[in-house]
Amino acid sequence: MESIITTKSTDIGKLERTGAHSHIRGLGLDDKMECRPSSQGMVGQVKARKAAGVIVKVIKQGKISGRAVLMAGGPGTGKTAIAMAMSQELGDVPFTSIAASEVFSLEMSKTEALAQAFRRSIGVRIKEETEIIEGEVVEIQIDRSVTGVGPKSGKLTLKTTDMETIYELGQKMIDSLTKEKVMAGDVIQIDKATGRITRLGRSFTRARDFDATGPEVKFVQCPEGELQTRKEAVHTVSMHEIDVINSRQQGFLALFSGDTGEIKPEVREQINQKVSEWCEEGKAEIVPGVLFIDEIHMLDMECFSYLNRALEDSMAPIVIMASNRGMSRIRGTNYQSPHGIPIDFLDRLLIISTQPYNETEVREILKIRSDEEEVDMTEDALSVLTKVAMETSLRYAIHLISTSHLVAQKRQAAKVDVADIKRVYSLFLDEARSVQYLKEYQDEYLYNEIAPNDGSHG
Ligand code: ATP
Repeated sequence: MESIITTKSTDIGKLERTGAHSHIRGLGLDDKMECRPSSQGMVGQVKARKAAGVIVKVIKQGKISGRAVLMAGGPGTGKTAIAMAMSQELGDVPFTSIAASEVFSLEMSKTEALAQAFRRSIGVRIKEETEIIEGEVVEIQIDRSVTGVGPKSGKLTLKTTDMETIYELGQKMIDSLTKEKVMAGDVIQIDKATGRITRLGRSFTRARDFDATGPEVKFVQCPEGELQTRKEAVHTVSMHEIDVINSRQQGFLALFSGDTGEIKPEVREQINQKVSEWCEEGKAEIVPGVLFIDEIHMLDMECFSYLNRALEDSMAPIVIMASNRGMSRIRGTNYQSPHGIPIDFLDRLLIISTQPYNETEVREILKIRSDEEEVDMTEDALSVLTKVAMETSLRYAIHLISTSHLVAQKRQAAKVDVADIKRVYSLFLDEARSVQYLKEYQDEYLYNEIAPNDGSHG
């Protein structure tokens, strides 16, 4: 985080491009929610992607908040990648990623750290105030019973500051609406003399102050200055950003330094209230985002109990947790539980499991990563790298892409070849070789605690 702040914008671009999951652009599902074998940077893991797709759909359709998902599977099986893809599928929503252990290392209580992570993952889409046109422009929301087109249900909603004229023209307007096939969200102009309506474009705001059922129109005067024009800018900020700006004298600068401190519950309470008001007034909309908590087994009972409660909130984001553990001890207790998660909490999770990749899939992922890192590699080198990944780990092999590229560059070759892979394979140890090395040379290390015949390394 800090390094990003101090770098120039061009550097940020670079950082993003080569991020571990920068090749992921979505879940790679088609319209029927079927998995394309390799699409949007995603390879294989068909069942998990499909399950993730279903969750995304549920969230999108019902605006359901507070769902918690557990991605369970071995290391490097794409748990983080799928969580990332889900947030991309959700569109412009905040995605926050934390490792559970971070909660314990910040300069604040663990529940405050979790609260901040939650608030970072709740977006507020704020509609920017725009130019005001008095008089003839109305914003309209209308149902099919009036126009024969548009949404099945809804209200005829007119918004104008020029009430008198419109009132007189009420009935004429309805005829005109039908003729012009005006739909919900259309911005129209009314000819005062004839009541004729011209469609000017679409508006993103939902008109709200005016009510009518069926073709009977009820007009309510809109306060002067509230009328929106066709153009509108929408910004998404997180609840956490609003909290910070309102809770510290240094305001938004605290967002950059990360020195936000604890935020008082009263401040959050007030902000919730304000944001709800904005929502009611149509100025803003809450968009629950995604909070990804990696290594969930690092949380303790207190944190799980906090999560349990926080998920009940109507604004709660989708919480996706990941674990590569089997039966583990719940932190701070002597109880064993699947993934180190208390059973009652586990019960409220939707669990998606990820499976190990086969050789073809690993090759495809490595190919995508090389393209992403703009590294040209011969087919043979890719085959060797795939073999390395199968024998060590996918992550280790991914790390060899950029390093082998450096080696290739040094010998002024345009493409990474087998020899470059071999070179970096010998330079950098994977986990198994590192353990082997430690066993052989343990006596030379400080604080060596392994008994001479102890084979464990976990
Ligand atoms: P861990 O348990 O160690 O945290 P993980 O399951 O979260 O591992 P990832 O970090 O998602 O694993 O995957 C490791 C790397 O492989 C990442 O760069 C990721 O983007 C990539 N990757 C994993 N699965 C896929 C996939 N199905 N398609 C494309 N890329 C993938």
